[in-house]
Amino acid sequence: MDDITNLITQGKGKRLYATENPKEAVVYYRDETFAYHGLKRGRIIGKGEINNLICEYMFTMLTEKGVPNHFIRRIDNRCSLVKRVEIIPVTVKVRNIVAGSLAKRIGQPDGTHLRNTVIEYNLKDSEQDDPLVNLTHITALGLATPQEIQRMEEMSLKVNQIVGECMRDINIELIDFKLEFGRFEGEVLLADEVSPDTCRFWDAKTHEPLDIDRFRRDLGDVEEGYREILHRLTGNVLKTNDD
Ligand code: UDP
Repeated sequence: MDDITNLITQGKGKRLYATENPKEAVVYYRDETFAYHGLKRGRIIGKGEINNLICEYMFTMLTEKGVPNHFIRRIDNRCSLVKRVEIIPVTVKVRNIVAGSLAKRIGQPDGTHLRNTVIEYNLKDSEQDDPLVNLTHITALGLATPQEIQRMEEMSLKVNQIVGECMRDINIELIDFKLEFGRFEGEVLLADEVSPDTCRFWDAKTHEPLDIDRFRRDLGDVEEGYREILHRLTGNVLKTNDD
């Protein structure tokens, strides 16, 4: 996967490569990580391998439970084959409990209970720090149709229910997460990733984060958090390699 000529795009935690089939792409999961809009950078050794396996688990489960997504199959320890979608430039955040930017915005501490699920939309525009927008902004800017937005919201709530239940079974609380969607052959598919890079997962007993917040907040043992999620999900005790 070092053939840089095939690189389509490079994100915070992944690279996307073209394949001979224009309808498919290869995701390469990296150890690199960024936080605070790129101001903090680092490397979590083995994260790429762990996230590749966690995403395989999540996407397979979501397919089985009726959430159409881009995942085709895992190729090797750091790569998976996916459908090559056209990413809708709007992210969906689903929140069950107050944390992160919401805590700052509304002046409530992390862990504050929410009476209902909160859905937020952000523009995928890193130069503007991914601004928070509402549905009328999205349609006014022509970024997605009302039907697409409705589908994204419907699928996001279903992901919340399915992943929330799965995590509860392994004593992990799903605090919030970010999803991305893409267009593929006239359908909206869940794309990107569902992993500790994009979800807040807290241990249900200790309320300790087991996700990227360990890196953001310098809590240490970042890879241990990721490894713990994978282990509780699959029983897999992975010995990872550097990339
Ligand atoms: N998130 C993400 N990518 C981003 C920003 C946020 O995956 O660029 C995830 C984040 O890990 C959390 C959820 O979206 O699970 C809500 O994040 P929040 O808005 O609180 O922002 P943050 O505190 O992560 O900046």
